[in-house]
Amino acid sequence: MLGRRPRVFWVKGLVKDELWIGIDLGGTWVRVAVSDRNGHFAAKTSEKVDKSGAMAISGQMIRLIRFLCHEHGFDVKSLRGIGIAATGPLVQQEGVLIHPTAMPFDCVPITKPISKELGIPSCLINDAAGAALGEKKFGAAKGLDNYAYITISTGIGCGAIVNGTLLLGKDGNAHEVGHIVIDYEGRLTCGCGKRGHWEAYCSGSNIPNFIRMRLKDEPRKTVEESLLFRMVGGDLSRLRAIDLFAAARKADNISAKLVEQIGVLNAIGFANVINAYDPSLITVGGTVTLRNKAMILNPIRKHVKDYALNRIPKITVTPLGDDVGLYGAIAAALTYVSPC
Ligand SMILES: [Zn+2]
Repeated sequence: MLGRRPRVFWVKGLVKDELWIGIDLGGTWVRVAVSDRNGHFAAKTSEKVDKSGAMAISGQMIRLIRFLCHEHGFDVKSLRGIGIAATGPLVQQEGVLIHPTAMPFDCVPITKPISKELGIPSCLINDAAGAALGEKKFGAAKGLDNYAYITISTGIGCGAIVNGTLLLGKDGNAHEVGHIVIDYEGRLTCGCGKRGHWEAYCSGSNIPNFIRMRLKDEPRKTVEESLLFRMVGGDLSRLRAIDLFAAARKADNISAKLVEQIGVLNAIGFANVINAYDPSLITVGGTVTLRNKAMILNPIRKHVKDYALNRIPKITVTPLGDDVGLYGAIAAALTYVSPC
């Protein structure tokens, strides 16, 4: 497997006799942390998600939990609970993912196999909803009753706290804003199979589709003379989101224009969140955001007022960085798991 040596974070004040597990299951990576109830991480590790079978994913999590505990001398049986924040959609009460957009399975059981194997209670939550909880408990949303977290990563997701309550919905998917329609003509198809969704245009995995669509409108000569075109050796099928932002950073005109167009579409998505939930703060995470903070947030801040009815809240990058999903998983465990 692709396991890394765990990085150890012995933190002053760590409450060693009350440890919890947080797991952040993304479309590409699974991260696992051991933490106390104050968000002090004792250890963490990550691997690429094992997609060899639907049951392989929970098996991988069990192995990583045992690995971390063994490496650091924690007794697995002493863990108080496990929170898993996962890419959706899901059925929260049953602890399963249903047709997850980033995995080729109809159903992925998560909590039952883990709790059965380890004898520890566990809970499942949408990763962006979990991140909102994590931000409220450990990050920038402390003390706020109306708050939204938006992630722009492999996919796009949101978690919203309204009047102090995390919105969950009947299955725990109340905040799948990545799949709101921003293009009624539906020119691009989303990973979920539907057309015109925000995620189909602006997520890390779909930005290349958006670029290829827009470049068809540009003069061939302009495209061929662009840095972006040269960076992929003239083969646009090789495009990645990272190439676009790298070329824009080097003042490639066509790339800067595409970044701005993506920013307008992101502003429409953010305006929908603001109009629906009326938050007083939005924090933003996800790898696309964290690697390109100004290029993602500045166009949103510039254009969101053109689409939002409600008063525009402060929009800022999450201070929890790459670990926001882990903080969310820990916060979910603290909120929803009843220790045995
Ligand atoms: Zn979709």
